[in-house]
Amino acid sequence: MLTLVEVQDFLQKAGRGEVDSSRLEPLIEKFGEECKDALRKQLTKRGDYRIRMSGLGRPLCQQQLEKQGMKQDVAYNDIMRFLMGDLVEAVAIFVLKATGVKIVDEQRQCTVDLAGQEVKGTLDVILDIDGEEKVWDIKSASPWSFSNKFSGRGGYDVIKEDDPFGYIMQGHLYAKAEDRPFGGWIVIDKSSGEWDFVQAPEDQTEDSKTYIAEAESRVESIVNDAPFKVPFQSVPETYTVKGNKIETGNRLMPKTCTFCSFKENCWKSAEYAPKVTSKAKFKPNAWYTKLVTKEL
Ligand code: SF4
Repeated sequence: MLTLVEVQDFLQKAGRGEVDSSRLEPLIEKFGEECKDALRKQLTKRGDYRIRMSGLGRPLCQQQLEKQGMKQDVAYNDIMRFLMGDLVEAVAIFVLKATGVKIVDEQRQCTVDLAGQEVKGTLDVILDIDGEEKVWDIKSASPWSFSNKFSGRGGYDVIKEDDPFGYIMQGHLYAKAEDRPFGGWIVIDKSSGEWDFVQAPEDQTEDSKTYIAEAESRVESIVNDAPFKVPFQSVPETYTVKGNKIETGNRLMPKTCTFCSFKENCWKSAEYAPKVTSKAKFKPNAWYTKLVTKEL
């Protein structure tokens, strides 16, 4: 994709000291303001719950508990992750501008009517690439997620199969609010600094319809305080011996719940303990909902 090449080219030139710094000064000032906003957003008190386009694609149960004001267990490193995500996003916008990519708008507040409710959101950026204006979302990703979810072996269809954070619905909601197609994600590997432009399909009519209908149904459930239920089941822990799968007797927390700050509400006896089936010298931890076998 030409835009990716342009970004890479700009950064290489910058590395060789070939970029006119006076041209960058106004962009650097703007970047500074965005960093201040990121610190304010992540380090100061959060407001009351509102349905937002960025959250609507997450599981309904999370949003119901958020609306109820249920206490969230947000780890200190979650705040660091959110903050770094916002800062990477600000860097991405800076680099896109410095590269000369046509930015139609950025950080635009938008609204969409869903089930009679005005749902707000802030889209990341609208780019004009080859005369086509599309809504793009910026994501920072771990090396694994960069290679397996977004770039490399990943892509729109891979994300669609397992999307606990609702990235696809979020993209289609911004696109609907702007009446422009969803371009996809500009994704940056937090560790290696690599970029990619992960494109949404050209024909997105069906997906847009499906995700908007699902978003409407979620809004209705949230507004009408539909009964809360844990929609996921814990998973039996297994290991393999000579091709046979054997259960340890333990149960693992469903993956979506491991990312959720309400896990202690929904899985009261959960334990974060060394992974029983790991053969590593220093075993990684895993979330167990039932831990009866501690060693194999
Ligand atoms: S812990 Fe799981 S079930 Fe509970 S709110 Fe979070 S995602 Fe939903």
